[in-house]
Amino acid sequence: MQTNRRQFISTAVAGGIAATLPFSACGSTPQISDNNNRKPDYTKLDEILKKPIFKKELFTTPVIIETLELLRFKDSFLCRVRSKDGAEGISAGHSGQLRSQYPIFTNLLQPFFINKDARDLDLLIEKVYIYKLNFRLSGMALGVPLATIEFAILDMMGKVAGKPIGQLIGDIHHPEVAVYQATEYREKPVPESMELIKRDVAEYNAKALKIKVGGLMFGTADLNAVGPAGRTETIIPLVRKTFGDDMVLYADSNGFYSVDEAIRVGKLLEEYHFQFFEEPVPFDWYEETRQVADVLTIPVAGGEQEYSLHGFRWLIANDGLQIVQPDFFYFGGMIRAMKVALMAEAFGKPCTPHMTGGDLGFLYMMHFVSALPNALHYHEFKGFKTNTIFECKTSPLKSINGLVKVPTGPGSGVDIDPDFIRKHEIV
Ligand SMILES: [Mg+2]
Repeated sequence: MQTNRRQFISTAVAGGIAATLPFSACGSTPQISDNNNRKPDYTKLDEILKKPIFKKELFTTPVIIETLELLRFKDSFLCRVRSKDGAEGISAGHSGQLRSQYPIFTNLLQPFFINKDARDLDLLIEKVYIYKLNFRLSGMALGVPLATIEFAILDMMGKVAGKPIGQLIGDIHHPEVAVYQATEYREKPVPESMELIKRDVAEYNAKALKIKVGGLMFGTADLNAVGPAGRTETIIPLVRKTFGDDMVLYADSNGFYSVDEAIRVGKLLEEYHFQFFEEPVPFDWYEETRQVADVLTIPVAGGEQEYSLHGFRWLIANDGLQIVQPDFFYFGGMIRAMKVALMAEAFGKPCTPHMTGGDLGFLYMMHFVSALPNALHYHEFKGFKTNTIFECKTSPLKSINGLVKVPTGPGSGVDIDPDFIRKHEIV
């Protein structure tokens, strides 16, 4: 079965069956060793990990960071960075996380960046993991505040260079991003789930859709978390029947299943032509993830909880995952997430980032995807709802037939309302 799956990925990446398998352009040849004699070749991946992502060559003179501030108004967090020469950048943080994590920002990250040359962004992101032994906080605790800082620096550097963020971390491959509607509702009965899913799909005229299957994380005995009995087995065929053969469908079990159960549900997803199965077993069960992937032909996707570049390195080289989904906030920014994407590309695998809802997550998702050479066709999207007040002159930020234009202005391409900023106080 594994050979079939590899042919499936390989053919899809080559673009031969793009209509049914939504992978964007990606020219690399898969380099996966034989299943019976696995000797993963890490050479290319280690080369990628050493190469800088940020295009330092765009800047001829140093851009020294003079101040880096965290601003707060109720649960809205902004990060403002200023250079000694008067350049300024601003980002909207992940409010849901920063409510708990702001002391990590102010105590463990902010002091490191002062007086540093922002052109060394790759190196700074690497070294800040060592500063004050920050690597011990790896994961969302460090990743979210660090990403907030990185996005502000990228915004500033984009304004200095007159280029959007995508051009600072790669080349623009996707001026528009095709989105898939990510839905929740795993705790609700099937009829109620279906009504909510139909509403979400209609709101953005989505051409692709992700549903939740199973419960939430392995071993959950709480019925509220597991959801109604038989929901998964009922909803998989029903979603296909309801939306028809043209709808691209994905499923996410958030690490709910054992290997055997994941294989059982995976085969049902295959029967109804779903196009990836996300986190079939708990995210840090690497061997078990691969065991599931070895049996199934449906690509296994994952990465939203992964916090280690070396974790991704293993999952890619050992074919545990066929699609990588780093979260640009949780994983500590776009530079680290891009390294994951490029490692995946070296093995002929696509990337589609995990996206957290709220604030400006959709905006950062679009900039990141715009520069992905191996983007999956559709990308996670949870709507444009945000508490951040801003204006964008270069994109309506609307989903038109499931497509959103990426802003082309410098940096993040949006102007956060000055009156809104003024309501914030320095933390
Ligand atoms: Mg997920």
